[in-house]
Amino acid sequence: MKSAIYLDYNATSPIRDEVIEAVTAAMQAVGNPSSVHSAGRDARARVEEARAQLAAFVNARPRDVVFTSGGTEASNTVIRGCGAKTILLSAIEHECGFAAAKEAGVPVEVIPVDANGSVRLDALETLLTKAEKPALVSIMYANNEMGILQDLKAVVKVAKAHDALVHTDAVQAAGRVPLDFKELGVDYMTLSAHKIGGPQGVGAVVLGPTVPLKALVSGGGQELSRRSGTENVAGITGYGVAAMEAMVALGDMNHIAALRDKLEADIRAHANDVIIVGSKGDRVANTSCLIMPGVKGETQVMHFDLNRICISSGSACSSGKVKVSHVLTAMGFAPEEAECSIRVSLGYRTTEEDIDRFVDAWKSIYNRTRAR
Ligand code: PLP
Repeated sequence: MKSAIYLDYNATSPIRDEVIEAVTAAMQAVGNPSSVHSAGRDARARVEEARAQLAAFVNARPRDVVFTSGGTEASNTVIRGCGAKTILLSAIEHECGFAAAKEAGVPVEVIPVDANGSVRLDALETLLTKAEKPALVSIMYANNEMGILQDLKAVVKVAKAHDALVHTDAVQAAGRVPLDFKELGVDYMTLSAHKIGGPQGVGAVVLGPTVPLKALVSGGGQELSRRSGTENVAGITGYGVAAMEAMVALGDMNHIAALRDKLEADIRAHANDVIIVGSKGDRVANTSCLIMPGVKGETQVMHFDLNRICISSGSACSSGKVKVSHVLTAMGFAPEEAECSIRVSLGYRTTEEDIDRFVDAWKSIYNRTRAR
């Protein structure tokens, strides 16, 4: 039997060996970081070391890093807890952004994107002119479906001219491009460990030194009362190590981009009707969103799965119904095109042989459907 190939790093990435070692060591130790005895102090030291590692990873102050249970909780905390009177989100945000905004109990506006997936700054400007202050502008750095990067510095410039707060969901940018919280000039950032080789169920909010943040989870006052609950010491320890590894691995992004480009070039050479979404824009190196006209994404995913290749379809299944990707429709794709998309996302273990096997499998389904 063929070995399995994992090309779904944007869903979750394989945990790095160094992370497993660090998590195991932390789990073998006992101690609540709030306890004053030596075991508690050891646990506290693990959490604070990870906080310093995360802060170095994004160039922020350690005290401005708040650990959460993941990206979803981080975005909910910011969007519901920043005190905004209006929330403006891009049309291509992750579901957790839209769901959090709905819960915030204030008017929500959607900022359109252009055909390439870039946020329309003219529309942002118009919406901000009408928005009740203070407004929150929430725009993801890299999109999870097609990898497009936003010009966050330009977004911050427009937002700051209207005294708005800026949040970025950097879950898919982390580990793919260098992150510099201070240089970007945003007020809040959402992060998640499991997209960069860390454990699932850990993430963080990074925030500016003076911006408001009301806790979403209250209780014992951990994380400087910004997120209560006994810290996930093992998970947080693993996150710190994953961040350090991811920083080093940024040096491999050119290699990953070359693999992704080879994949796209091989497919394009074979099929002139394939659509490579967002290929004209600035994208992260590891993501490719491919539309095979006439062949539904779920059908393709099943075909790849039978060939022992793990990828995602662009559309999501919720309550038994297939939902067409809001990202692709926001970019102007017709629903019948959007439902034929798949997402391939590469990572640190991806090899050229993996890409060749993926391309062969892609060609085989394409040829079969075109022969009818
Ligand atoms: N934001 C983006 C862009 C994501 O891709 C994801 C995960 O799919 C999340 C947020 C949610 O992160 P988590 O799975 O840690 O809750």
